[in-house]
Amino acid sequence: MSAKTAVNYRLPQVEQLLQHNILVPYIRILSRPVVTEIIRAQFAKIRQSPLFKEKGVDGIDVLQLLVKACEEQQLRRQTRVINATGIAVHTNLGRSPLCPELWDSVRHINTGYSNLELELSSGKRGGRNGLLSTLVNAWLGAEDCVLVNNNAASMYLILHALAAGKEVIVSRGEQIQIGGGFRIPDILALSGCKLVEVGTTNITTSDDYIDAITENTAMVLMVHQSNFSIQGFTESPDIQDVARRLPEHVQLVVDQGSGLSTEQYADSETSLARYLQMGADLVCFSGDKIIGGPQAGFIAGRSELTKILAKNPMMRAFRPGRIVLSLLEELLVRKLNQLDSGEGVAQHALNRAQQTRELADELAARWPGYAQATPMQMQVGGGSIPSETYDCFGLTLSLPGKAQQHLDALRALATPIIGYLQSERVLLNLATLLPEDMALFLSQLDSYFEALGAQA
Ligand SMILES: *Cc1c(COP(=O)(O)O)cnc(C)c1O
Repeated sequence: MSAKTAVNYRLPQVEQLLQHNILVPYIRILSRPVVTEIIRAQFAKIRQSPLFKEKGVDGIDVLQLLVKACEEQQLRRQTRVINATGIAVHTNLGRSPLCPELWDSVRHINTGYSNLELELSSGKRGGRNGLLSTLVNAWLGAEDCVLVNNNAASMYLILHALAAGKEVIVSRGEQIQIGGGFRIPDILALSGCKLVEVGTTNITTSDDYIDAITENTAMVLMVHQSNFSIQGFTESPDIQDVARRLPEHVQLVVDQGSGLSTEQYADSETSLARYLQMGADLVCFSGDKIIGGPQAGFIAGRSELTKILAKNPMMRAFRPGRIVLSLLEELLVRKLNQLDSGEGVAQHALNRAQQTRELADELAARWPGYAQATPMQMQVGGGSIPSETYDCFGLTLSLPGKAQQHLDALRALATPIIGYLQSERVLLNLATLLPEDMALFLSQLDSYFEALGAQA
């Protein structure tokens, strides 16, 4: 008999692999059909590989390849992550985390039937906003409000329903792009309005607005400079003055964006209620920025206008579902009662920032040689208050090898820790760490540093 046995080209059976204890956990995470497809795709690849052609299955660790392919897919699933970026409302990290108490308190409304469109007092069909208009009135002094799926939808609905075919006056300093693909001039064009530009990038006055008004003007639109700030020689119009001088047929609309309802964060910012007091007919803003709710768009202001918006056929496409509405209702009640759970993530992070010094010192002592307490800055983020940073503390990690590799490795943990790089070091900002994340933050980093120590 020759020493060389025949090459074995027989890959394991798919059915058997699906019962293998190393692959079974991925069925729960990815579903059986998806894991089956991964196995088939890997088999096709393996059959093409030179090593397989030469040595057959003996040359290849089939199971290891399958696990790697499953892991890649697993990383695409949504998962909780730990935010150590110092940006409280982080667009890539789901913006506002909801307060656990808020989430728990609407569970029963959403796991059962609800009175979403049933008026309990009469037994007739009703509107779906429940107590929301009343709550927004108590909060901002707005006559009425309309809720949509996000603030981009607010903008579109306002422009489409109130200004289609007419002129909308916008300052040249406010023709901005907010995040991916949302440009003010584009959304105006899409909603059928004609953009009339006034002023310059740094200076726009009341007269600029008033002088541009024609019979065909429907609206003056002011847009909050969300993700940047122009500093130096600048001038913005006195909004009150513009509002007072506008003729009856022209509405003043402010896209405030962030949902800032107090001026305590920054002197330079104007709150929602203040815009309304100064004469804005409508303000619109996101539900998942500063106020800390689910993704939603609020349009608040004069009821004469909100009624027109609510009746627009596009409203059907933009209306939020009951999960969102129930969360917003509960959030506003808590906010009005000044409960901690109604404050929103931005305020929580600002409160925590003040306690981060002590925490940073404690953690530096826990991980000597690996972590140093470092003063840093946090931001509210998500296009809110772009001009302000707030002092806090965090950790600078001292790790062997490339910082980028450690940043990537922390992102690959079971509960990913998202830090950032500065001067070739990994930084972890402690202000945006949620209290519920602390135990996992500690245990995962304990293990991470322990493993580094073992390698050294
Ligand atoms: C964030 C923001 C938007 C977009 O809001 P979404 O809720 O993300 O759709 C629009 N305008 C301004 C001024 C913003 O800050």
